[in-house]
Amino acid sequence: MAENNKTILLVEDESSIRGAITAYLEHEHYDVVQAEDGVIALDKFNSQEFDLVVLDLMLPRLSGEQVCQAIRETSEVPIIMLTAKGGIEDRIIGLELGADDYLVKPFSPRELVARIRALFRRVVTGDEAERGRIDLGDIVIDTIGRKVFENGKELDITSSEYKLLYTLASHPGRVFSRMELVKKVLGYDFDGYERTIDSHIKNLRAKLGDDSKHPHWLFTVHGVGYRFESGKEHHDEPGSSA
Ligand code: CA
Repeated sequence: MAENNKTILLVEDESSIRGAITAYLEHEHYDVVQAEDGVIALDKFNSQEFDLVVLDLMLPRLSGEQVCQAIRETSEVPIIMLTAKGGIEDRIIGLELGADDYLVKPFSPRELVARIRALFRRVVTGDEAERGRIDLGDIVIDTIGRKVFENGKELDITSSEYKLLYTLASHPGRVFSRMELVKKVLGYDFDGYERTIDSHIKNLRAKLGDDSKHPHWLFTVHGVGYRFESGKEHHDEPGSSA
């Protein structure tokens, strides 16, 4: 039997949906831990290691947004947000708070499994970073030497640009807000520094030969921040049309 050893936290208050998703994920050999509201979700999240979180947006006690924000304070675990409507605002809320992907209800369990697999493929794991190399097709990041190569040629980038590219590229497809990038790259949070991120992005684009109008790697998500696409695979692009 194919064991994939991945544990998923499933946060959903509607018991029929929770039961159906659990059955489907267990059939796919995922271990599933269920939580029926936001408070229980955080308790469970803090009590063991998870490989991925499936998070409903509308929840009793603590909303999906609040749970997502709380998780992001300490963890880069992949999160798929379940939203009731497909409105742009719901989508932006989920992505702005640091979800990696979203799925609009009603969806088929098969679709959810496809998204989970895609997310596991594209999110860079700790193992991969420890091995010292993140291969993104034309771009390769040497995480030990902290160098970036494009088609084998080393790019001359600053330490802040490296951190920015590493942060974005380890989570292809995920939208990072400017504020989140300020904290990760500059290490402090202060409103004025959001513009610094914009100028680092501009410099990185120039060095990667990327074009803000027709980007290959670094995409602007208007009103939110930035995301990176690996170019290794094409997937549904959350937030791309915003
Ligand atoms: Ca709900």
